[in-house]
Parts: sequence; structure tokens; C-alpha cells
Amino acid sequence: MEISIIDYINQSLRCTFCSDSNISTEEVFCENNVLMGRIMCKNCRNFVEIKNGILDYSNQYNEDIDRIDYANQAIFYNTWKLAPKNYNSVPYDTEYEVYKQNYKIFDRKIVLDAGCGSGRAFEFISQFDIKLGILIDIGQSIELAQERFSNFYNFPILFIRANIRQMPLKNNSVDSIISNGVLHHVNDQGEVLEEFSKISKNIILVGIVTSDKFLGRIWIRGNVIRKVLKKIKSTNTLIFLAYLSSKVVFFFISIIHVFIRNKSFSALFEIVISDKFKSQKLHYLMLDYLTAPFYIKHKDSYYFEIMKRSGFKLKEKSYSSQEVFFIFNKE
Ligand SMILES: [Zn+2]
Repeated sequence: MEISIIDYINQSLRCTFCSDSNISTEEVFCENNVLMGRIMCKNCRNFVEIKNGILDYSNQYNEDIDRIDYANQAIFYNTWKLAPKNYNSVPYDTEYEVYKQNYKIFDRKIVLDAGCGSGRAFEFISQFDIKLGILIDIGQSIELAQERFSNFYNFPILFIRANIRQMPLKNNSVDSIISNGVLHHVNDQGEVLEEFSKISKNIILVGIVTSDKFLGRIWIRGNVIRKVLKKIKSTNTLIFLAYLSSKVVFFFISIIHVFIRNKSFSALFEIVISDKFKSQKLHYLMLDYLTAPFYIKHKDSYYFEIMKRSGFKLKEKSYSSQEVFFIFNKE
């Protein structure tokens, strides 16, 4: 059975002011297939605006609590905005393989991507037969996700700008949650997982950087550098530093390339100058590496324990090149 966004808002959203689930959509309208207007809580009569297709809770952020969570959102937004169009569609083979193998997470399901960023992962997932998608992110990058799906009609998608620690969704309001590459940027991971376990009826897939993998270890060790870089307040300076370091890394990769493949030094020059795409990807990776805080302070058992208390058990554990994917099922 089909479900529309308006139906879903009526059935499954809760008020973030008073927790009531009586939400009015009388003032919501659709313009060129984009949701506009505002929703209202029938109990406390508070409004939440829908700006250009995005249900926007950003004015409800508690700056003290949320500081860490969205300290880097501007950086992510800038990078994704500046990245070449095809960058965001570049295949992350090992990650996508995990989704493919677990396609049942998505099949005819209401799927929430918690911390969706620019919507890259969800674009891959959108090939599955999903019933309804919900994309939530705390940052402005939700606008990029909304843009990405502006000509997508296979199933309805609801875009929400909100903190994943406190989502405007009722308990058991989605079938599956995926949250990839998010939890390790969040300080209170336990709180976020508890929120996931309330909202998801069935399945929760969490992808987190792991020290079990060599690349993951490099990422985690970067915390030492990040501690220093944290003192730099200007986003532009950080973007420039990432640009410089990506050029340095790219240069060394190219040298290795020259020696292994027996290419000439003029070919090396060619690679460094011309391969804009690879160099931009590295730029993004370095930005992520240098700036985004990583809070890897827990053993796997910490996550399992929280999920167990919330009624979920580990069904599967898969790895990509630097992340571990935990797939939890309701017991
Ligand atoms: Zn209310």
C-alpha cells in the first residue's frame, strides 16, 4: 500500500515541544512537487516551518548540547557543495556491497537515514523497492540531499533538519534505520542508539569507523592532529589546509604510481596536474580526516549492551575498508 508524506506526517510525527502526536497538516501544501508551509501541534499549538521541502527544526537546537554535533556541519556542507557533481556518486564499493547483501532492510520498508549528510548513501539505497524514505540531518547539507532527490519520484521522501539525538518521530514509526559514518562524530553515542531503538520497529544498521581495520586505525589516530586543529575557528582556513595536505598526499601517491607502473616523471606531472577528480576526492577525505572529531572510545560490547537493553540483538557484522557495520534486529 502506498503512503504519502502528508499521511506519514499525520500518523508518525510527534511534537518536539510537548511530545503530543496530534499534528495538523492543514497548512502544508505542495508547490512543483516540493513541500511548503508549516505543521502545527494541535495540543500546544507550536509551529514547525517547512522550508523548500525540508521540515526545519534547526531553531530548536540547544547550543550547549549540540555544539559538538554540528561543529563540523558547515565544513561538510561546504565540501559537498564544492565537490564536482560526479564526486558524490563515486562508488564506495565495500559499503554498497553491505547494503546489497542486506537488501531486505529496505524492501517495501519505511527507511530512515539518520545523519544522511548530502544523501550519497541514500542515493545508492534508493534503487531498492522502498515504501517511504526519511532523511534527517542536523546540518545544512540536508539541502543538498533535498536537491539530489528533486527529480526522484519512485517513492516519497521526507526531509527533516533535526538532531538525531532527538527526532520528531513517534516510537516504532519506521521499519529500518541506517546510519553510516555518523555515530563516530557524535559524543553521546549511547543516547543516539537509544533514540534509534525507540524509533525503529525492526532493523538498525550502524556503520562506524573501527580500529579493527588498518585504515580505520589511521582515521582514529588522527584525533591527535584534530585536537590541535580544533583551535582553528575559520572554516576557510581548514578547507585550505585540507587542500594543501591532499595535494601532498596526492603527490606521494603519484610518485608510488610512477615507480610501480614504471611511468616517467612527466607522466607524474601530468597526473598531479590533470587528475582533478581524484584530487578533489582526496581533498574531501583530508578535510574529513583533519577536522571531523572522532569519538571512538567504546568497545563493540558497549554498543551491544545498549542495544540489548533496548530489545535489539546483533544479527550481522560486516566490514568495509575502514568501517564496521553492525546490523541489529529486534529480538
Ligand atoms: Zn505540542
